[in-house]
Amino acid sequence: MRVQVDVSAILIVAILILSLASGRLPAVLPGRSTVAYLAAAMAAAILFLASVLAHEVTHAVLARRNGIQVESIRLWLLGGVAQLKGNPRSPGADLRIAAVGPLTSLLLGLIYGALAVGLSLAGGGGLPVAVLGYLAGVNVVLAIFNLIPAAPLDGGRVLRAVLWMIWRDQQRAAFAAGRAGRIFGYVLVGLGFFQVAYGSGFSGLWLVLIGLFVVNAAAAEEQHARLGSLLRGIVVGHVMTPNPVVADPEQTVDEFIRRIAFAHPFSGYPLTDPTGRLIGLVTTNRVRAVPVDRRATAKLREIACRPDEVPTARPDEPLADLLPRMAGCADGRTIVTDENDAVVGIVSPSDVSRTMQLASLTRPHTPARGAGRWPARPGT
Ligand SMILES: [Zn+2]
Repeated sequence: MRVQVDVSAILIVAILILSLASGRLPAVLPGRSTVAYLAAAMAAAILFLASVLAHEVTHAVLARRNGIQVESIRLWLLGGVAQLKGNPRSPGADLRIAAVGPLTSLLLGLIYGALAVGLSLAGGGGLPVAVLGYLAGVNVVLAIFNLIPAAPLDGGRVLRAVLWMIWRDQQRAAFAAGRAGRIFGYVLVGLGFFQVAYGSGFSGLWLVLIGLFVVNAAAAEEQHARLGSLLRGIVVGHVMTPNPVVADPEQTVDEFIRRIAFAHPFSGYPLTDPTGRLIGLVTTNRVRAVPVDRRATAKLREIACRPDEVPTARPDEPLADLLPRMAGCADGRTIVTDENDAVVGIVSPSDVSRTMQLASLTRPHTPARGAGRWPARPGT
C-alpha cells in the first residue's frame, strides 16, 4: 500500500510543533527549557500524524477485506484519505469500512488517555503526561468530528450505509448523505466567518477552509450519485468497443499514421505486449505532438502514455464509478482489461456521452430498480 505525504501535511506538522512548543505546552507546564518543549512538541506531532495514518490504514484494510482495491493513503492539509478504487458492494461493507476509522481514533484516544493516567499515577509527570493527554484529546476529537453524519466524513458514509439498508437504494442514500454534507459544510463556513468577525481570525479561517472543502467534496458525491442513478445497471462492458485495434509499440509514428490512423475511425490505440497486456496508449493528440521531422524515427512506445497514466477498468465495473477517473494523458479514454490484465476493450468519451444521452432518454420510463435492463451490445 502506497502512502503519500503531501507537502501540506508537513506544513501542518510544522505549525503543530510551533504552536505546541511556543503556546500550549508552556501554558500548561511553565518553566521548562525551550529544547524540552520542542522535543515534546515534535513527539506529539509525529505521534499525531501516526494516529491519522492508523485511522486511514484501518479503512484501507477493511476495504481490501471487502474486495475493494486501495490505490494509496494520502496525508494532506486536512488529515488523511484512503483512496479506494471502487465502491462497496453492500451496505454492510460500506458501514464497516466507514466506521472502523473513527473507532480506531477513539480506541487510540482511550489508550493514550490510559497511558497518561497510568504514568501520572506512577509518579511520572511533566511533559510526557502532557503529550499523552494531548494525543488522547485530539484522537477523541478526530473520532467525534469524523462521525458527524455528513459526506465526505466517515459519519456521512455511515449515514449512507444505514439509509442504503433502509431504502435499499444505494444512489438515493448516497445523494442524501451528500446533501447532508453540503449543508454541514455551509454551517462550518458560517461558523468560521462568525469566528473571524469575533476576533479569532486563524481558527475562523481554518473552519472556512474545512467547510469549503466539505461543500466541494459533498457536491461531488451528490453529482456522482445523480450520475449513478442515471447510469444504474450500466457497466463498462456494455459501452466499451470490444477488441480494439492495437498498435505495435516498435512501429514508427510515420508507419502508424499511414497504416493505422488513416485506416480506422478511432483516435486511441492501445499498445500491447505479446500476451495482450497494456504497455501504453497512443492517441491522435500524442501523435500530433510529434514534430514532422521526427515521425520517421520516433517509435510509438516512446510517445505513448505510460500504462500508469491510462485509466483501466474491468467489464463488470459500473460505468458511473469509472467516470471520475477518465482524465489525464489518455484524453478521456479507458482501457478495459480482463482478469488476466489482457486488453479486451476501450471506452472513449463519445461512448460515454452517447450512453448518457440514451440513458436520459429512457430512464424516466424505467422503474427505479432497473438494474441490468440496459440492452447489451451484441458481442459483449
Ligand atoms: Zn476516516
